[in-house]
Amino acid sequence: MATDYDSPRKTDDDLGEDSLQELQARRADKSSGTIDIDETDLAESLELPGADLSNEELSVRVLPRQADEFTCSRCFLVHHRSQLATERNGQMICRECAA
Ligand SMILES: [Zn+2]
Repeated sequence: MATDYDSPRKTDDDLGEDSLQELQARRADKSSGTIDIDETDLAESLELPGADLSNEELSVRVLPRQADEFTCSRCFLVHHRSQLATERNGQMICRECAA
């Protein structure tokens, strides 16, 4: 009698494996679907503030360094030429750092 009860348990294990595979397949479908939804949501949310941000980035990128300015090799700040204290091996140091 005991062997009769064992055989249906094996089929239960097989069913469990099948359900796991189905779950994994469903998870893959869900994950891919979520990624698509996130991408569209991000694109839609980025479009509205994107114009303002691009303008700010452009203005910042244009500013960085003028011909009469230099970047201090110690504090990495951009200073006017008048603030240049010393220049050693091409490394410029501002007055604040040289003091
Ligand atoms: Zn400096």
